[in-house]
Amino acid sequence: MGTILAGAAVCTGSGSFRADLRLVGERIDAVGFDLSRPGDKVIDVSGRLLLPGGVDVHTHFDLPLAATSTADDFASGTAAALLGGTTTIVDYATAFRGQSAAQGLEAWHGRARGRAFCDYGFHLALTEWNEALAAELPGIVDGGVSSFKMYMAYKESLQVGDGALYAAARRVGELGGLLCVHCENGDLIAERAEELIASGVTGPEGHPLSRPPLVETEAVGRMIAVADLARCPLYVVHVSADGSMREIVMARRRGQAVFAETCPQYLLLDESRYGRGGLKGAAFVLSPPLRPAGNGEALWGRLARGEIDTVATDHCSFTLAQKEAGLDDFRLIPGGLPGVEHRLALLYSEGVVKGRLSLERFVESCCTAPARLFGLYPRKGTLAPGSDGDIVVVDPEEEWTISAETQRQNSDYTPYEGVRVKGRIESVYLRGRQVVRRGRLFGETPRGLFLRRRPFAR
Ligand SMILES: [Zn+2]
Repeated sequence: MGTILAGAAVCTGSGSFRADLRLVGERIDAVGFDLSRPGDKVIDVSGRLLLPGGVDVHTHFDLPLAATSTADDFASGTAAALLGGTTTIVDYATAFRGQSAAQGLEAWHGRARGRAFCDYGFHLALTEWNEALAAELPGIVDGGVSSFKMYMAYKESLQVGDGALYAAARRVGELGGLLCVHCENGDLIAERAEELIASGVTGPEGHPLSRPPLVETEAVGRMIAVADLARCPLYVVHVSADGSMREIVMARRRGQAVFAETCPQYLLLDESRYGRGGLKGAAFVLSPPLRPAGNGEALWGRLARGEIDTVATDHCSFTLAQKEAGLDDFRLIPGGLPGVEHRLALLYSEGVVKGRLSLERFVESCCTAPARLFGLYPRKGTLAPGSDGDIVVVDPEEEWTISAETQRQNSDYTPYEGVRVKGRIESVYLRGRQVVRRGRLFGETPRGLFLRRRPFAR
């Protein structure tokens, strides 16, 4: 016995068309016409859009950071994801210095197990490089964690040097994995921040001054060279500056496997937010920082043309009380924004409705490409027979307003407060089961599964 969603426009990364969709159990059974069998339940969704469940490949839930921890854990973060139409997240597990890869990963399994409302996978961030880690990686890949991350910034805690980047990239490349890199020059940032503090610039407005676009663009260029020499496919996380995209586009033209991710905040917000000072500015501190006005429109163009592959959130939420910690020294403001709940709404309304993005590019960059790059396609990221029944039903006409008061993500603000959105999620299906209906989660039982991901090159 199946369920038929009848009469909607089925939207995929390669086109949208009027069709019915039949769900059986956890999977999509068929897409087309005259699908009904005796006993099937038919749900009329005419006038609606059917999207594949969103895939957000950059979140930080329950991340310990200095003296604090992110405001969202796996329960609140994945519930917010589902309400926003994201049915799969890939979070950054981290092996901190002195830990084995297995220890880092097991800590994140412990945080997520039995608490996740949507399906989830892990990347593994490595904060140093040594022979023991090199020996462990094949087992990590076999366990379904096939992408790794390294940081060129955060000098005191996460940053690794070029030698470690190169050696790790060699190993990851050999294993068919994908290396994700946070590209900002941490040494330059530390020096500039010192200069600013010494000259009396201590508030949030110092944050973007300490890490201007060149700090990112230099690191992107350097990492492209490292990955090329190491023969490792490279995924540049949260590209914020248009100049960095020029480096990536040139590398791709040379035939190198380099992929680019950006985030809604770099498309929609600019650095004027820091000029508001105090807590109003601190609320927008994240790394890389928001960029000058005009940079966002350039990124929209690159996303529309397919030069930017994916849109993820880098969801890393703190409350305003947590942000207060660094009001006298911008270096101490916990960096990150909430966003997992509003990615699809913002990209649809600000992108598709406003004519910056085709419906196909929207689905491709928010669902299909992230699933493909991270070894989840075609199980996730598309609407096709055999795929998981992860479906978002959208009323394209309904309008609503984003507000911290009505969000589920566990922060007392949203960077998009007051933004008017056209297009509202009516319901969400996770593996064939309706889990969201008109802004409400069905039940409080977490049903998210850990997803073992295939390596990039296999
Ligand atoms: Zn991040």
